[in-house]
Amino acid sequence: MADPLHEYRQKRDFAATPEPAPAPPAPRRDDVFVVHRHEARQLHYDLRLERDGVLKSWAVPRGFSFDPADKRLAVRTEDHPLEYEHFHGRIPKGQYGAGTMTIWDRGTYSLVKIPDWEEAMQKGELKVVLRGRRLRGEWHLVRTQQAKNSWLLFKSKDRYAGHGRDSALGIDLDGAPIADVPLDAPPMRWGHERGPFRDPDWLFELELPGLRCRIVKHGEQVLATLPLPAAIAADVRGLACERAVVDGVLVALGADGRPDAAATARALQHGDATTAFYTFDLLQWEEYDLRALPLLDRKAALRTLVTTPGRVLFVDHVTGDGEALLRAMHDAGFAAAIGKRADSGYAPGPQLAWHRVVTRAAPTTPTTPATGTAAGRAAPPARFRPSNLGKVYWPAEGFTKGDLIGYYQAVADALLPHLRDRPVHLNRFPDGIDGKSFYQREAKDGTPAWLRTVPIPHDGQLVAHHVIDDLETLLYVANLGSIDLHPWLSRTASLDCPDWAVLDLDPKAAPFAHVVRIARAAGRLLRGIGLRPLLKTSGKNGMHIFVPLAPGYSYEHSRLFTEAVARVLVRELPDIATVERLPDQRDGKVYLDFLQNRRSQTIVPPYAVRPVRGASVSAPLAWDELEAADLSPRRFTMQTMPARLAAHGDLFRKALDDRQDLLPAIAALEAVLRSG
Ligand code: MN
Repeated sequence: MADPLHEYRQKRDFAATPEPAPAPPAPRRDDVFVVHRHEARQLHYDLRLERDGVLKSWAVPRGFSFDPADKRLAVRTEDHPLEYEHFHGRIPKGQYGAGTMTIWDRGTYSLVKIPDWEEAMQKGELKVVLRGRRLRGEWHLVRTQQAKNSWLLFKSKDRYAGHGRDSALGIDLDGAPIADVPLDAPPMRWGHERGPFRDPDWLFELELPGLRCRIVKHGEQVLATLPLPAAIAADVRGLACERAVVDGVLVALGADGRPDAAATARALQHGDATTAFYTFDLLQWEEYDLRALPLLDRKAALRTLVTTPGRVLFVDHVTGDGEALLRAMHDAGFAAAIGKRADSGYAPGPQLAWHRVVTRAAPTTPTTPATGTAAGRAAPPARFRPSNLGKVYWPAEGFTKGDLIGYYQAVADALLPHLRDRPVHLNRFPDGIDGKSFYQREAKDGTPAWLRTVPIPHDGQLVAHHVIDDLETLLYVANLGSIDLHPWLSRTASLDCPDWAVLDLDPKAAPFAHVVRIARAAGRLLRGIGLRPLLKTSGKNGMHIFVPLAPGYSYEHSRLFTEAVARVLVRELPDIATVERLPDQRDGKVYLDFLQNRRSQTIVPPYAVRPVRGASVSAPLAWDELEAADLSPRRFTMQTMPARLAAHGDLFRKALDDRQDLLPAIAALEAVLRSG
């Protein structure tokens, strides 16, 4: 058999050129392709395909075009040795091909249509699929009759085809390793809030009210951190690539026609068709992890993937002038922009490379004739700045204070109604769950003036209690390190009249399966006496059963009622349930605690995060979830709850309005007790 590299050897003096001399044949893979950028007398590109132990080569004078109509000349040149795959350098003057040779792209290829190389060459029709950093998808090489060795190279009409580009993404992927970006890694978030600014190194995007969502496309498979409406999943499948991981916001319009986070949660719950996915970042493209690349490159790449407007939309930005964007946004009724460093990589959690930019209300200085002074009244601070967002609160998981604040922001719409108008005690962990903690009932000096407090008599003193009515206050107390929150069972206007009766199933060391058995029995019992109880995990290993109360009941009522319930349950399940107050007398049984039904006692609300390993949260459950064999309270965490909430809505919302009468239930219970 003739030496295919005869011509290659003949043209070169290997003592003078740095180009590789052919070595003994390497094991054949027949799937490598490489493109050299060759600055010889005339700049051209050399496309080389590995076949039969050599690199089959074509010189392409005008380079590559992704426009299928743009057919480019490719001149067949001599075969090159396999070692040339890695060659780059300067070929000295006077030598064949003198000039600079750089590797412009490299990857793998496969032959399609005519899979047999000999046959395809004979027909003069090669169709190859290239998998490189720049060249992607299907390409044609077709021999022409016009001149010896003359071929035409052009792009197939596939998902990578497009205009005005010489590479699939149009960006340099040199800093992008081959790696998969996981679906569930924490998203990047803003780490600082400030007023409008201008900086040419920053770009500014609209902050869209909706639900943050990461989506992975892998061929036809689409995975997301929230349940996606089918129309969005279909458009994600249509992105112009095989694989992608994108970050963005699911947005639905509220009743007033504006993007609205609560409307989005409702829309996802009902599979509403009016939702759209606004994407602002590309974390993975094909096999490349792009997170280390500059944001501007990631966005340029993302723009090329979102080719047809539909349910997946590209979030555009302005560069440099954040002030102008804020002015325009303000007129359009949007609250905030996100400023991002144009050269920043993508990192998990709150980062200083992202700032939330808000228009601050101008300080007002009204005169106050009533007091007879002309002195201006200082406007209360409109907001606070979260601090130390990167501080690790859950060392084992690496969750930070920023993650906690981000979580409370995500679930605020569901959580706030359960906190509103109730005195709340804080449980502060300024150094995370393994550090010192303290329980704080009183809103101390230094509490900002804008924060609502309510004075409550306690041991002869008036003690100011926090009240969490709005998102800002919720985030403020989270920023204080209050991981979980402890609202009262009554509201500020009727502190002596609870609107929740609560039975706390507290297992200490008892198995969770026993808690489940008792909860099932409690559900049956309460429904049997005409009530509609609600159920949630405590966030640790216990469960809470709530009965929302009609107005007018006292703590005396709710305590007598829950005590009677507890005693019936202990009678039914004496081996696993107890009302024994002293822990060492409980015999490993689940403690049915009804004593929380007292003024100034508190309960963890639904969705509160607990200061425990795994950052589990108090999760409302549907009663039939108690039947699931794999029910585990630790599965409901700061990471999983937002998606569950989006999928199921607030399973605890009836705690707000399904207010029930206790007197008939108490009478029925007494009858049950007497009958035993
Ligand atoms: Mn060349």
